[in-house]
Amino acid sequence: MELFYQSTRSKSKPVKASQAILKGLADDGGLYVPEAIPTLDKGLEEFSHMTYQETAYEVMKLFLTDFTEDELKDCINKAYDSKFDTEVMTPLVEADGAYYLELFHGATIAFKDMALSILPHLLITSARKNNVSNEIVILTATSGDTGKAALAGFADVKGTKIIVFYPKNGVSPIQEKQMVTQKGDNTFVVGITGNFDDAQTGVKKLFGDKELEKQMADAGFQFSSANSINIGRLVPQVVYYVYAYAQLLKEGKLENGEKLNVVVPTGNFGNILAAYFAKHMGVPIAKLICASNENKVLYDFFETGIYDKNREFILTSSPSMDILISSNLERLIYMTAGCDADKNAAFMNSLSKQGKYEITHDMKNAMTDFCGGYATEQETADTIKALYEKTGYVIDTHTAVAATVLNKYKAATGDNTKTVVASTASPFKFTRSVMNAIDKKYDSMGDFELADELSKLANVKIPKAIDEIRTAPVLHNTVCDKEDMKAVVMKFLGI
Ligand SMILES: *Cc1c(COP(=O)(O)O)cnc(C)c1O
Repeated sequence: MELFYQSTRSKSKPVKASQAILKGLADDGGLYVPEAIPTLDKGLEEFSHMTYQETAYEVMKLFLTDFTEDELKDCINKAYDSKFDTEVMTPLVEADGAYYLELFHGATIAFKDMALSILPHLLITSARKNNVSNEIVILTATSGDTGKAALAGFADVKGTKIIVFYPKNGVSPIQEKQMVTQKGDNTFVVGITGNFDDAQTGVKKLFGDKELEKQMADAGFQFSSANSINIGRLVPQVVYYVYAYAQLLKEGKLENGEKLNVVVPTGNFGNILAAYFAKHMGVPIAKLICASNENKVLYDFFETGIYDKNREFILTSSPSMDILISSNLERLIYMTAGCDADKNAAFMNSLSKQGKYEITHDMKNAMTDFCGGYATEQETADTIKALYEKTGYVIDTHTAVAATVLNKYKAATGDNTKTVVASTASPFKFTRSVMNAIDKKYDSMGDFELADELSKLANVKIPKAIDEIRTAPVLHNTVCDKEDMKAVVMKFLGI
């Protein structure tokens, strides 16, 4: 059965999966959602005998119904290969009574590799299927991890260029070094003087700029998005929740049908929305626990039904979650509003005009799958130290936000359902914060020295992604004001 995608903001003509992937954002500024969430057509017992790649095919074929079997398998095989440094792709590590789902074994050691290593192939295939001859220009705002993962995914992919904007003072030194050393003639990296929301708002403005769109088309270019609003990002993320459940089943850690809680360190709401999709496809997930850092807009939202971004933006040690507008939440709002685009558009309009909106009682009641929690900076650091001292396992700051929220949730509810914690980054990506949490004495060391220390402490080899940038030359040094993003894009494209 063919699955179509609809914009969250108006009842426009539904599009095929490949068209939704190509466009990224709908013309009315809405996000694409499938008209219905498909159900798994195989049992989880059957999934427990599959490889990650086989699982990816079985899950993604239900969403990308206009891809042929060969096309989809080709994308999967190109993405999920030796770029990943572990055989099972997403290992589960049991520590202190929880299962840490390590999603950081790809090229840039953060979970975004799971989707961004396949997106370029989905995009190129989508372009071919729709007879697009323009060169595709990926425009992305990043709070740190998306940028590098997208750059790594698109570098030297024929028929594409990629431009990444990041907040100049809002990412970790390692994250910045990873981006500015990116190779590939088709890659551009720009720091902006502003925060992540400024970068994201600026990118959205460029996507909506009709005049620019025309100038681009005349020069043979068209924009697409690699941000987590692209359905081609969301769909690959559903896979690892199916795979994780099946792995726990295979290892005898769960009975078939037994409920599982999932805790996800959340920023743009993409990862946890993928878990929600997995639940509605048939994976027995009970609670979806949404973990925030001190930028706890989502925690407040799930408590009160009011989304309010009018607050101070706090820079934390988990920068990939320093976000006040969680774009993917719009998809949940739309779905819980009964797929009523007008209703959703009114909320989003209120968000853009007043910076806030309040959902109805019925909608709030329809969100009981979710539960919000947050962790302060101190709690996050304490969790890293305590877990290390108790088990020897070292987690990164984002994962530690989730682990903290899990501990608080268990203490508050007494819910002892088995739990998967989405482990979204390698501790080697946020080495300084991680090592400082364990012992302040490390603060005087340099970044790479710290990586060596962490390697000894955790008894884990330094990932290739870190070793590579030790000596890599800086290839990108453009910095601009947020008002100048358009000019920078035009200069890069030579238009
Ligand atoms: C992007 C990111 C997150 C947040 O994920 P969303 O899908 O945006 O909610 C959490 N942790 C890390 C390490 C990330 O890179």
